[in-house]
Amino acid sequence: MDCPACKGVVVVVEYQRIELDYCTKCYGVWFDAGELSLLAERLDLRGAALDVNQIAALPEKKAAEKARGCPICRKKMKKVTLGSAPEVLVDVCTRGDGLWFDGGEVGQVLGQLKDKGAAADEQGRVIDFLGEVFHVRG
Ligand SMILES: [Zn+2]
Ligand SMILES: [Zn+2]
Repeated sequence: MDCPACKGVVVVVEYQRIELDYCTKCYGVWFDAGELSLLAERLDLRGAALDVNQIAALPEKKAAEKARGCPICRKKMKKVTLGSAPEVLVDVCTRGDGLWFDGGEVGQVLGQLKDKGAAADEQGRVIDFLGEVFHVRG
């Protein structure tokens, strides 16, 4: 699989028994739909915080960043935001293949978390998890 952001090499890494596709060049991370449901289980999330189809149904976010192709189906992904404080911009496959997080985006969120303390909502827990992933890998 090529990185949807920079076409760099994507490697599979395992963190807390969840397999992530991680770009060695731009540090972005892809979660496929199956790994997202595993993650939801692991974080004991109820509801739709990590349901890829629900995320794909969120309103599109206007962003300066250009659209990216899904690494699985190659269709253009949709930009949406997760969480509220902080918000994180993600690319989601509208066919439900998975979610892409930019390395830079997650880094920004981590910076905000340091100021505010850990977020308490379900998506905040996801963001915390990502923070651990990036801390471990960073
Ligand atoms: Zn990349
Ligand atoms: Zn797709």
